[in-house]
Amino acid sequence: MEDTRREPYLRLMHLTKTYGDLVAVDDLSLDVEEGEFVCLLGPSGCGKTTTLRIIAGLEQPNAGEIRQGGKEITRLPVRERDFGIVFQSFALFPNLTAEQNIAYGLVNEGWAKGDIEARVDRLMALMDLPDDYRSKYPSQLSGGEQQRVALARALAPSPGLLLLDEPLSSLDAKVRVALRLEIKHMQQAIGVTTIHVTHDQEEALAIGDRVVVMNQGHIEQVASPVDLYCSPRTPFVADFVGITNFLRGYAGPGPDEVRCGSLTLHCGSPHGFATDAPVRLSIRPEDARLGVADPATLNALHAEVEDIEFLGSFYRLRLQVDGLDEGARVMVEASTNRVRDLSLRQGSDLAVQLPPSLLRVYPAEGGARR
Ligand code: ATP
Repeated sequence: MEDTRREPYLRLMHLTKTYGDLVAVDDLSLDVEEGEFVCLLGPSGCGKTTTLRIIAGLEQPNAGEIRQGGKEITRLPVRERDFGIVFQSFALFPNLTAEQNIAYGLVNEGWAKGDIEARVDRLMALMDLPDDYRSKYPSQLSGGEQQRVALARALAPSPGLLLLDEPLSSLDAKVRVALRLEIKHMQQAIGVTTIHVTHDQEEALAIGDRVVVMNQGHIEQVASPVDLYCSPRTPFVADFVGITNFLRGYAGPGPDEVRCGSLTLHCGSPHGFATDAPVRLSIRPEDARLGVADPATLNALHAEVEDIEFLGSFYRLRLQVDGLDEGARVMVEASTNRVRDLSLRQGSDLAVQLPPSLLRVYPAEGGARR
């Protein structure tokens, strides 16, 4: 029978890139569907930009293959590839107006004057650029406006792929948040397949259909923003995306139990570790329930507030939990209303529950699942 499944629009297959002894990209494979918005997220030096530059043909991989739109493009020269790119540094032509910058690629491709005008009009509207910006030079535009022009320029020839290399990181916080939403809306409006490199987890969670978390050249996890946050597959992801408490312990005796200090904590389901295997238990600060007094509830504990920090809409508290190892602390977050209702302050005693289904169990550093 004929295989009717369509090949993903972009396929990265076993890409490796080394610089001397350094492995910048390590056997990386990723499929991206047409119209998807994928964010490459990871700490500085994890290989995000190198991966993007390999996709663009600005770097050659040592090994591996890239396919775009059903064709192999691994060794295709840059000018023959079908992509638009926006960099962190605005990279507009300083001697050309906004309009001339946007039209640049179209003039080179020999478009007719009327078609260029219509296309520039459409792109300026798409990127929310007022008409009187047409004749302005880059030096007369703010950083956010320059990036809008850069986006319009990248999109002008209707590329199949839009590559964004930290386009928001030189902008101030407010402009960054506003422009990331505009980029998302623009991408949804025209449906261009987009790969966006960022080290900002909030940005990746806010705009990606899927987020690829990278670490030391390899992929740790690929997931939707919600799945990534709620079900991090590795301690690295749990720690890099959001804030997580890690408690050292030992698996067992029950299949869903972990011993931390003198406490036996229950997880929502069997964790798969052999009894006595060293493990790390993780829980998000906002997942702990404060003021749960019923001792019959699983994982109901007693704690003292060691520190309390007011962060506007919520408080962050550092708890010393009875029964945990000396020195172990649990960070929790609670709404301002909840903290007021429970009259919490430094030194307060309180009941706290770690809901079993929200605890995750990982191997201890250097350990493995059985
Ligand atoms: P950042 O967010 O800091 O840009 P990144 O995740 O994008 O980091 P890359 O720029 O891809 O990381 O770099 C990955 C690794 O490869 C880093 O250790 C970097 O120093 C190294 N590297 C990148 N380009 C080169 C090069 N041209 N020559 C030598 N080493 C390089």
